[in-house]
Amino acid sequence: EPSQDFIFRSKLPDISIPNHLPLTDYVFQRFSGDGDGDSTKTCLIDSATGRIFTYADVQTNFRRIAAGIHRLGIRHRDTVMLLLPNSPEFALIFLALAHLGAVSTTANPLYTQSEIEKQAKASAAKMIITKRCYVKKLTNLQNNGVLIVCLDDEDDDVDGCVRFTELIQADETELPKPEISPEDTVSIPYSSGTTGLPKGVMITHKGLVTSIAQKVDGENPNLNFTGDDVILCFLPMFHTYTLNSLIFSAMRTGAAILIVPKFELNLVMELIQRYKVTVVPVAPPVVLAFVKSPETERYDLSSVRMMLSGAATLKKEPEDAVRLKFPNAIFGQGYGMTEAGTVAKSLAFAKNPFKTKSGACGTVIRNAEMKVVDIISGVSLPRNKSGEICIRGHQLMKGYLNDPEATSRTIDKDGWLHTGDIGFVDDDDEIFIVDRLKELIKFKGYQVAPAELEALLISHPSIEDAAVVPMKDEVAGEIPVAFVVRSKGSRLVENDVKSYVNKKVVHYKRIKRVFFVETIPKAVSGKLLRKELRAKL
Ligand code: AMP
Repeated sequence: EPSQDFIFRSKLPDISIPNHLPLTDYVFQRFSGDGDGDSTKTCLIDSATGRIFTYADVQTNFRRIAAGIHRLGIRHRDTVMLLLPNSPEFALIFLALAHLGAVSTTANPLYTQSEIEKQAKASAAKMIITKRCYVKKLTNLQNNGVLIVCLDDEDDDVDGCVRFTELIQADETELPKPEISPEDTVSIPYSSGTTGLPKGVMITHKGLVTSIAQKVDGENPNLNFTGDDVILCFLPMFHTYTLNSLIFSAMRTGAAILIVPKFELNLVMELIQRYKVTVVPVAPPVVLAFVKSPETERYDLSSVRMMLSGAATLKKEPEDAVRLKFPNAIFGQGYGMTEAGTVAKSLAFAKNPFKTKSGACGTVIRNAEMKVVDIISGVSLPRNKSGEICIRGHQLMKGYLNDPEATSRTIDKDGWLHTGDIGFVDDDDEIFIVDRLKELIKFKGYQVAPAELEALLISHPSIEDAAVVPMKDEVAGEIPVAFVVRSKGSRLVENDVKSYVNKKVVHYKRIKRVFFVETIPKAVSGKLLRKELRAKL
């Protein structure tokens, strides 16, 4: 009976969320009309060059870029791929596209040529904005009519590419204001979800605005960023978590964001000291790096008042250990999923904080409903019982691009998104993730889809069958390992398999171990019995 569902909600009351607004109007709402936003305040700092963009600069720049992109022919609902490392331009271009009603699809710039081609084709990207060093991976796409915009400081042109500097000079008054509907897609990150290959996740203006508001809006925001905060951003901006929970959440609150192209522990500690960073968002491997480093003593880390971890499981022990290194910081976790936005956030980060426990990944976000269902019967479970976590609310994706079947497998007819994560809610409404039902492997928080590696393995002439599963690893959390059935007569060895697959994928998807077996265990339906393989490890 649906009426008997055990439904969990935030301890914070629901608020009214202006999710009828397009993303850029919402994010910069305080700078319009009689808003209280101070546009002379610092918004973005580029740690690589020291460049600073005030809130006024950010708004002028994204409008100019929007006009430039429009002049190149990009219109409402067209898709543009961002293939960039962390930089202020990344945020500005994303905002520019959102302002045009166009769609961003973000990808890891370290992806191999074939990984980039797959995503660019699947998302129907008309343009790719990138840096000179990645252009050589785009030749095929360019030959197929995709326009390449190259973002570089050097003076000489890159063959056949439009220069970003030309684009930014465009006159913003040229820009017609498109009618953006809240249901329009604003971005298409790629995620494998609970099963299969990576799929385009259609995130709408309404979904993204709702997700940001659930964290930072209201009298007592769940995530209390303020105009005095300096927020460190080394987590990859191509991941929707970073854009949603850090960049746009920070902009909504008037905070400053210090953008770092790449994580390097000592550099990060030096930046914390130099810029008196107050908020440090991390992933579990970064927590371990801080915990293990003997050099944390050499830096003044006392400015940090908040440290947030997300993207993968963080156990109680490293959480307790890192607290000791940041004496003035509140530590807590957030739990989210590309398809679902932020699902849970620690209430230790609220303006009026609640007492929380180590190891918990937060309490369900406000203006949303959560339930835990039995993985076999689907019946909803009470507190302290583990099952699949399901979430419902306006923050969810619209669906997978061109894949209604995968969409209906993930979001049921009552609007519940099934996360594929196993967890429970305790007596204090705190959520603990204990296992994963879905295939997904998380290497240092990065997604690795077993189906993608299995397809590559099976394309090898000497491989008859294969399965990829996660193996526990102290540093990375999980690593992908393969079980392989050789073809008759084949003398294939571990290194042949690795070198065949590993050159076709980005570093964190590389297969770390290969186990040769006689058969891959399967159910009568043909479904791989991954649990049996995981048990063998
Ligand atoms: P992604 O779509 O790449 O953000 O991956 C989402 C998945 O990462 C979730 O469904 C979880 O399996 C995992 N995840 C994210 N945050 C946490 C967390 N705090 N604790 C445990 N797992 C997490």
